[in-house]
Amino acid sequence: MSNSATPTSRTRVVRIPERGQYDRATIDAILDEGFVCHVAFTVGDQPFVIPTGYVRYGDEIFVHGSAASRMIRAIEGGCAVCVTVTLVDGLVLARSAFHHSINYRSVVILGRARLVSDVSEKTEALRCFTNHVVENRWEEVRKPTAQELKATTVVAISLAESSAKTRSGPPNDDEADKAWPVWAGVIPLRVEALAPVPAEDLSASLAGFDVIRLKRR
Ligand SMILES: Cc1cc2nc3c(=O)[nH]c(=O)nc-3n(C[C@H](O)[C@H](O)[C@H](O)COP(=O)(O)OP(=O)(O)OC[C@H]3O[C@@H](n4cnc5c(N)ncnc54)[C@H](O)[C@@H]3O)c2cc1C
Repeated sequence: MSNSATPTSRTRVVRIPERGQYDRATIDAILDEGFVCHVAFTVGDQPFVIPTGYVRYGDEIFVHGSAASRMIRAIEGGCAVCVTVTLVDGLVLARSAFHHSINYRSVVILGRARLVSDVSEKTEALRCFTNHVVENRWEEVRKPTAQELKATTVVAISLAESSAKTRSGPPNDDEADKAWPVWAGVIPLRVEALAPVPAEDLSASLAGFDVIRLKRR
């Protein structure tokens, strides 16, 4: 794992630069907590930003999809991509409209996708992907057939050029607004697993699912 905390000319946060962080411990912690990213790429002169799942594995993230998907077809050839991950931690309500904000932790990754064509690496990527969402799920479920593996494309994107940006804490109201008679502060937000809803055709002997397996979020 690279611990370089030095941004490149492309990853240096410009606005409020003190919120930018470039060390891999910070970047990895955000990537490991999230599980949905947005992948930006261009086809011709049209940019697309497509939401999808991911997992970090060492110095890369894996993204997968149907071999027929436009996103996968566009990026597997190695075109430039930008991947973002955003964790929303709270709504920041200020006295002024101007100073309203969001507490967040986010990562931006710039790079090019590497096609994962080796079957054992591809299978390992899918195992990590599955277990990233629900702990130990891969070990319980039916594994992909050769046909299913063929229908799935996996790409890896290096974290070599990546940045994190975080905002936390209360609103930054102007001194002159502090007496404005309106509630101000932070409303914390989090992603929370609710009670599981079993499939209608689930065997009664398999009724229980422990959401503690998702609790790391
Ligand atoms: C939930 C959320 C809400 C936001 N709301 C606003 C808003 O309303 N208005 C606003 O102006 N900004 C908002 N931001 C911040 C926004 O993401 C950019 O940081 C901001 O536009 C400033 O970009 P820039 O011009 O300094 O950098 P740019 O020139 O756009 O980016 C330079 C480099 O800095 C890095 N970088 C920039 N932003 C981020 C980031 N968020 N995370 C990780 N790396 C980053 C990237 O590597 C990028 O290549 C929000 C961010 C989040 C996560």
